[in-house]
Order: sequence, then structure tokens, then C-alpha cells
Amino acid sequence: MSDSSEKPVRVAKPFFGGATSFQDVFPNVASIRLTVREIGTDQKFEPEEYTEGDMPAGIHCRNPRCWLGGLRLKPFLKKIFADLQKQGKTAFEKSALCCGHEEAKTKPYRRCLHSFTLKGSVEFKKDKRETGKIAVQPKA
Ligand SMILES: [Zn+2]
Repeated sequence: MSDSSEKPVRVAKPFFGGATSFQDVFPNVASIRLTVREIGTDQKFEPEEYTEGDMPAGIHCRNPRCWLGGLRLKPFLKKIFADLQKQGKTAFEKSALCCGHEEAKTKPYRRCLHSFTLKGSVEFKKDKRETGKIAVQPKA
């Protein structure tokens, strides 16, 4: 039994499923500002702001009748980041429908009609070594 019980301490908040941080999933992103606005059928919601430090795995749908709804951010952001890098851009605005459904009396299910508007700006790392975790050489 010579296994080491020492584990590196991670400060980053869990992003997807508690095991990974935003930086682990998107190592090429230096920083992000994301504003999410949920749009209901007859409700208005205050926009929520996120950064790379507190990015959730998903956005919860606030429709009280919605089942299994919300928006998973990982595939969504992955696509946005790929498009931005291809186009050499840093700002984006996208909309997505909630993936949940409602229980209805007439039909077993009806699609949840809430949607999310995501507006943000990303700063990509120019250099692979620029990870933010490698200590900068102290000034001589
Ligand atoms: Zn929903």
C-alpha cells in the first residue's frame, strides 16, 4: 500500500457534475461574462450574470409546471466558443428554448414555452501556456 492520499487542492468551483471546473472544460477561455435572461409566456425575469468563476452547469427553468427543463450550458457554450473562434469574434447573443415539458390536462405533455437569451463576451487565451495557474516569473 504505497498510494498517495495527497490530492491537489482545486479552488475553482465545480462546473459540470461537481468534478470539473469551467477552466477544465474550456481551458482556452481566459474569462467570460454571460448574461442569461429567461423569457416566460407571461412572466418577466431579472437577468442573471455569470463569469468563469461561478458558471453553473445549467440554467434552471422557472416555469413551475416545467419538468426536466432548463438549459445545459456545456454543449451550448462549446458551440458558441467554436463559432466565435472561427469568426475571430468575442461577443455573442443566442437564444435557446427550454428542453423541458409541461403536464397538461388535454395531452400528456406539452413543450415548455420558456426560452433563454444568452448574451456575453469571451476572452480567449492567446497562448496555450497562459493558463492562469502557472506562476508568473517573479520580477528580478
Ligand atoms: Zn421549462
